[in-house]
Amino acid sequence: MKLNFKLLAITLLFINVSFSQTTIANLISQVSQPGIIQTVRDLSGEDSTVVTGNTVLIEHRVSDYDNNLAADYIKEQLTSYGLSVAAINYSANGRNIVATKIGNVNPNDIYLISAHYDAVSYHGADDNASGVAAVLEAARIMANYDFENTVVFALWDEEEIGLKGAENYANTASQNNDNILGVVNMDMIGYDGDNDKLFDIDVRNYANSNQIASDLVNIVSTHNLDLVSNIVNPGTLDSDHSTFWDAGYSAVLLGEAWSENDITPGYHSANDRINLFNYSYFFNMVKLCVGYITTKAVLLNTTAISPTFTPLAKIYPNPTKGFANLYYKNNIHAEINIINTYGNIVFTRNVNGNFVKLDLTNLSNGIYIIKTVESNGSTSVLKMIKEN
Ligand SMILES: [Zn+2]
Repeated sequence: MKLNFKLLAITLLFINVSFSQTTIANLISQVSQPGIIQTVRDLSGEDSTVVTGNTVLIEHRVSDYDNNLAADYIKEQLTSYGLSVAAINYSANGRNIVATKIGNVNPNDIYLISAHYDAVSYHGADDNASGVAAVLEAARIMANYDFENTVVFALWDEEEIGLKGAENYANTASQNNDNILGVVNMDMIGYDGDNDKLFDIDVRNYANSNQIASDLVNIVSTHNLDLVSNIVNPGTLDSDHSTFWDAGYSAVLLGEAWSENDITPGYHSANDRINLFNYSYFFNMVKLCVGYITTKAVLLNTTAISPTFTPLAKIYPNPTKGFANLYYKNNIHAEINIINTYGNIVFTRNVNGNFVKLDLTNLSNGIYIIKTVESNGSTSVLKMIKEN
């Protein structure tokens, strides 16, 4: 018991409330390159992960062969960020996962970002774990702030067999007169074979879709993203955004450069794996997504809602059942020590960067302190619970 009081005192010492101004640039800078890569690796079966308490490999996401494991993974991630999440079962096999962050000023004004999570073959890293990772990363970052407008983070099922999930959502929204002001749908955002940074914005002259395209072009220049914009009009109908056009909404598709045939050579095959990614391109495409949606949502507060931990920012999920993802506010060089309630170090790991995934499967159940000691000597602690 004596030790716990000591730890509590240390904890309080290192928690400080941040009063610094938060800007869109700051939110974009929170995109974690190793974090989004890990999400793709988890979803495309490169690494095992934990879903509903079990260590699993997401072997495939083919909707006809049961892709509920992927849906559960996505639902758990969004829930762990503190968002309200719904699994919408629109048919016997079809399941969309949708998280909503209600706007504090204009709750009925909605901006939506989306990606389909189903696939046609094994892995499906570019098509479309890449788009899913962008939506999840935006959700992770935005969950910590307040915005004027409502944001919907949507992951569609059954795109590959006829845009079924998105079509169901768009039609339901239209029947409910949902005031969706902009949809950015991402489908394949990880490949740039010739490294020319070109990406496509597929648009048609429906509703205010052209405005979304020019907003995206502006985000690239305002925030100096290492990308080259290419507006395609008339854009393709072959992804989920077109179901929103059909329902009368403004929407675009954001993706790699089909316009110059620079698309993953693994397309719709089991070769669609993360080893083909252009990491820098993928990183910038996710930043573009975060830049767009945070700009349109409009930051309400200039400070984060929750106290910030210096330098350790967040741990997901917590409680953890096996794997724990640690996101730091800055890139750090540090040693992580996990300490049990007896004060013993039971786990040690180095971290270089702003993200690390810890495999804590072998840790027994209980309360732990995660202590991060940076190479400059500064230390921070965070409480973590391990359970079955
Ligand atoms: Zn796709």
